[in-house]
Amino acid sequence: MRYSGLRVVVEALTGHRGWKPVWRDPAPQSHYDFVIVGGGGHGLATAYYLAKEFGKSRIAVLEKGYLGGGNVGRNTTIIRSNYLLDGNEPFYEFSLKLWEGLEQDFNYNAMVSQRGIINLIHTDAQRDAFTRRGNAMIMNGADAELLDREQVRAMYPWLNFDNARFPIKGALMQRRGGTVRHDAVAWGYARGADMRGVDLIQNCEVTGMRIENGRIVGVETTRGFIGAGKVGVAVAGSSSKVMAHAGMRLPIESHVLQAFVSEGLKPFIDGVMTFGAGHFYVSQSDKGGLVFGGDIDGYNSYAQRGNLPVIEDVAEGGMALMPAIGRARLLRTWGGIMDMSMDGSPIIDRTPVDGLYFNGGWCYGGFKATPASGWCFAHLLARDEPHVTARAYRFDRFLKGLMIDEKGQGATPNLH
Ligand SMILES: Cc1cc2nc3c(=O)[nH]c(=O)nc-3n(C[C@H](O)[C@H](O)[C@H](O)COP(=O)(O)OP(=O)(O)OC[C@H]3O[C@@H](n4cnc5c(N)ncnc54)[C@H](O)[C@@H]3O)c2cc1C
Repeated sequence: MRYSGLRVVVEALTGHRGWKPVWRDPAPQSHYDFVIVGGGGHGLATAYYLAKEFGKSRIAVLEKGYLGGGNVGRNTTIIRSNYLLDGNEPFYEFSLKLWEGLEQDFNYNAMVSQRGIINLIHTDAQRDAFTRRGNAMIMNGADAELLDREQVRAMYPWLNFDNARFPIKGALMQRRGGTVRHDAVAWGYARGADMRGVDLIQNCEVTGMRIENGRIVGVETTRGFIGAGKVGVAVAGSSSKVMAHAGMRLPIESHVLQAFVSEGLKPFIDGVMTFGAGHFYVSQSDKGGLVFGGDIDGYNSYAQRGNLPVIEDVAEGGMALMPAIGRARLLRTWGGIMDMSMDGSPIIDRTPVDGLYFNGGWCYGGFKATPASGWCFAHLLARDEPHVTARAYRFDRFLKGLMIDEKGQGATPNLH
């Protein structure tokens, strides 16, 4: 069923009896050509593009819980392509271009809102660094603008411009950045994949991998063995656990990242804003809640909830920038498990096991990557060669010292 304005009118006039479930609930078959492990944004997008762009069929997505119950439905919804390094910027710009046409492409309202993102500048050195970043973005075909203090003041006059420790001196702006309704992304890709014959199998945890003579032949699951020609793993925070079934130890640690939503307030933040002197970023949802976040909890964990010290740290960052939020009440917080890689950049690559492919290490930036990640992983699975924008995302960069260290923090996952 295609969605359209006409369809909404017709359904309204006929008692809404024509709406159908958005995807089927099939029983797993004994064998597929492609098995994607993980029904988050990246797994669903991979299945969608495998079917739609690469003409593949006999595809299944295996999800241990329900579709969209992982980080794709837990993130703070920011999309942008304001990266510095050559290994990253073309990939994230490719992703942003896919976001721009996504709703028409999969015929689903994902509420893509290019409301703009600004990264605040607090020192002269930071202005130099952001100027360099903006130039790198422009050279890679993205948009970037440097705003001075008065331009920022015109947008957000209530910011604490004269904070003694963190005065606001300007901002780097990307107007094409913004937000997208995160769970609608999972639903849109799921619907698009299902319409193309992909089996989306929920409550199906992968518990083992069957490898014969160096080649994967299928996966053990809580719903029995499922044979596979190729297996693509896209399980985000569970990457280390799942790849251990193939005997692999990944250059990835799992950490919790928390998100926060305040009570509904009148609209006063049009776009997305990040603090440049600490970990705090914020946007305002269409319902009026401030959606904000900050640093990861700095210890390894598989729990989907965080601890109070980070809540305090994030609140302090927010108060330094916008003291007025001290009066707003925090309504909800939750956590998701981050797959933090050693250099803060992702991996989309083959593995030493024939037919087994890996997609992970997204740290806390994988939502914006969802369309390009799915496209590039599908490209790798279908053609056995990396997509041109994802060539740098290889395992062996850690062996060869070719790190994509966007933040210059070194091999320290909890600092990226
Ligand atoms: C609080 C928070 C804020 C964030 N904010 C942003 C942001 O603003 N912008 C941005 O770009 N990124 C953000 N991120 C990061 C982004 O959400 C993730 O990098 C991205 O969603 C990860 O990819 P995914 O959607 O495929 O992961 P997930 O949705 O986690 O999908 C992985 C799936 O694998 C399943 N799985 C795990 N183990 C198995 C198994 N054994 N068998 C079968 N299935 C399994 C899980 O149940 C899960 O559904 C944020 C993350 C969090 C938690």
